[in-house]
Order: sequence, then structure tokens, then C-alpha cells
Amino acid sequence: MWVVVTTDHPKGPNDYLPFKPPYQLQRSEGPCPFCPGQEAMTPQETFSMRGPDGRWSIRVIPNKFPIFHIEGEFDRRGEGMYDVMEAIGAHEIVIETPDHEQNVAFMEPVQIQKILQAYRERMLDLTQDRRLEQFLIIKNYPGLFNRHPHSHIMAIPVIPRRIDEEIWGILDYAERKERCIFCDIIKEEISDRRRVIVETTHFLIFAPFASRYPFETWIVPKAHCSDFHLIQEEEIVDLSLALPTLFHKFYRLLSDPPYSLVVHTSPVQARFHRQEYHWHIETRLRIGLREGFEWGTGFFVNPTPPEDAAAYLRQIGSSEFGV
Ligand SMILES: [Zn+2]
Ligand SMILES: [Zn+2]
Ligand SMILES: [Zn+2]
Repeated sequence: MWVVVTTDHPKGPNDYLPFKPPYQLQRSEGPCPFCPGQEAMTPQETFSMRGPDGRWSIRVIPNKFPIFHIEGEFDRRGEGMYDVMEAIGAHEIVIETPDHEQNVAFMEPVQIQKILQAYRERMLDLTQDRRLEQFLIIKNYPGLFNRHPHSHIMAIPVIPRRIDEEIWGILDYAERKERCIFCDIIKEEISDRRRVIVETTHFLIFAPFASRYPFETWIVPKAHCSDFHLIQEEEIVDLSLALPTLFHKFYRLLSDPPYSLVVHTSPVQARFHRQEYHWHIETRLRIGLREGFEWGTGFFVNPTPPEDAAAYLRQIGSSEFGV
């Protein structure tokens, strides 16, 4: 297991106070650096989409306070009991909309298409750097230190344990059955239906069997593909309808719950790339967790069976834009 220690701008206990109940909006001091007009506060953008009037609808910038840095060579060395590795990597922020108050649950699909296209374009570019092995797209809602809708693209030289475990599971299943476990799960869930939340032409959204967290949800492309950055345009259009539908359901069912979303995709460089991998999105609500017990034991306790979670969510109608 790898632990990244950031030392550039350590956060004290007061930074986390807004996340203790009752939850409060964190008051920012001064203007929001992600809002239009404040571009000079951010590093030079790596990607943007602009209208004919020159105004941007989406921007990607390097993170000013990255968990990983792109410069330098990484060398892994034994230091006492622990392996130490320079934290080399890219960490970029996708500013998802110019609108500070926007929410994916209410976002127009055309804007979500732009977000997905931005993820794909940045990943295609960053894969050229052969040191970068694993890509992760992570979104925390609300943002931990800024409420302006944004997500993170991280590219790192090591394969995180969660992905490594998934790869071994997939390879083990493929060896025994000569099929992809995710493709089999999709077939099984579609015929069973009890855990299905939304089904679209190209994606299945469902509460996985034996979910670790209440209302844990997976969004899986029906067509087998190992790499998110190879997503097809028609899949992007389809996903841009499915995502606000899901988050609108969460919003209505659970009163705008905080959540985290992660995109899991195969390691990219030839040495560790796995055709057998099946990319997917996982979401987890940050509600009702028994963090202490999970932390202490490694066991997860989920008080909401996935069949119940899916049934609750199916009953909620779609957003005005959704499927
Ligand atoms: Zn803002
Ligand atoms: Zn598959
Ligand atoms: Zn996963």
C-alpha cells in the first residue's frame, strides 16, 4: 500500500471542520480561482473549450498544490521498513463549468459531454509520458477545498492496490472461464434486474452485489473496453445523459448527499496494460459510514442491501434532461 504525504501546504484540523456535522459551507477568503475573470490566479491551462465570444465553457489546469509532481525522476529505494518513491506524476484539475453554483445533478448533458471529452483529451496527451502508468479520475462532491464544480485527473507511476486487486480478480476469472467477469456481471444483472438502477444503450448503472458502502453504484460500459480514453463519441453522448440521471436520483432521494466518484481504467503502458481489464466508474456516497470499524478491521459494513438501494433509486424520476 502506498501513502502519499503532502508537505507543501499541509491542512490543519480547522480545514476539515466544515465536514463535521452539521455540515457547513466552507467560507472562502477572496474570489474563487475557478470562476471566470480569475484565470490569472491559476496556472496556465492545459486544455479548454471556448465559444465564438472567447469565453470558456470548460478549463483544465495543473493543480497548484499537487499530490504528485510531474518533474523529476522517480527512484524507488528501501528506507528502513518502507519503500520510498518520489511522488512523480501529473495532477490536473478539470473546472467543469464556469458556473460556481452548478451541480452535476442539474447539468445539461452537452456540458457533461465536454467534461468527458476533456478527460479523454488530457489522458490521450498524458499517456505519451512513458513514466505515467495509471490514470485516475476522481471527483469529490462537494469539492473538499473549493465548492466550484471540479474534478481531478491524476496520472501516477505505480498501480494502486485497488486497481491491482481488480486486475488479479479479472485475470483469475478469465483464466478459469475464458470470459471477462465484468461482461458476465452485466449480463447477469440485466437478466436479474433487482440491482439495476438505470440501463441505457451503452451503459449499465447498478448497485453491485455485496456492495461495501450504502448506495455504492457502478457505471459500466456494455461493450468490453480496457481503457477509458478509448471511449467512443456515442458512448460519451449516452453517458452524458446517464450521469445526471443518477446524480439527480441521489439528490432527491438523499437530500443532496456528498459523494465521491472514481474512474477505474487499465494501466496504460505496454508492460502493465491489460486488454482483459474492463473500465468502469464507481461512486460512493459519504454518508452513514462506520469509518472507525472499517479502518480498524478492514471489514466493511453496509446497512443498506444493494437490492434495496437500487429499488429506492429506480423509483425516483429522472432529471429534466436525463434518461
Ligand atoms: Zn467559482
Ligand atoms: Zn468485459
Ligand atoms: Zn473498480
